[in-house]
Amino acid sequence: APSGRSAALRARMEERLLAARFRYINQQLYTSTSREAAQLFQNDPEAFEIYHRGFAQQVGRWPENPVHRIVRYLRRRPASLVVADFGCGDCKIASSIKNKVHSFDLVPLSPLVTVCDMAKVPLAAESVDIAVFCLALMGTNLQEILEEANRVLKQGGTLMVAEVASRFEDIRAFVNAMAQLGFKSVSK
Ligand code: SAH
Repeated sequence: APSGRSAALRARMEERLLAARFRYINQQLYTSTSREAAQLFQNDPEAFEIYHRGFAQQVGRWPENPVHRIVRYLRRRPASLVVADFGCGDCKIASSIKNKVHSFDLVPLSPLVTVCDMAKVPLAAESVDIAVFCLALMGTNLQEILEEANRVLKQGGTLMVAEVASRFEDIRAFVNAMAQLGFKSVSK
């Protein structure tokens, strides 16, 4: 049996390897199309597990998890509003509010998940009041993904995006591009 010290070293090294794999998968998700991302997780189910462990660890170190802020906002709005959570992960939103929430992800971390590529969700047009992308605006086909959110949103519905600031080269350009897709910025 390994001595205490070598076991601890081994555990530390394994932890670092997992963290590196998380960063690698995260980068892949942001630099490939959503279809390629779906393929990635289909071919390697372990990748999803590693990704989510790393994700939870990283967010756990932040002063605030944006999903909590989104939940606080949603709790102040009527419970009759229908919500769609794109890239829902472990469904924190669906499990924290009374509203009808459609939770979409590539892999089911929870029974509340509808497995699909968020570029094509199984919802009727104009059936949702609030669409959420919390740390999930990934994929190089963002335009297609946001057009899908636009399709399912009712006229005058709300789109909420939480993303790491460093992901944006130019937030103004992003807001302008969103305006071209039909989203008016009401709060930043
Ligand atoms: N919104 C959750 C999880 C964010 S992690 C939260 O804030 O806690 C990003 C999630 O987006 C991951 O679960 C990942 O599997 C999912 N995702 C990435 N690309 C996707 C795609 N094309 N379709 C559906 N889900 C996707």
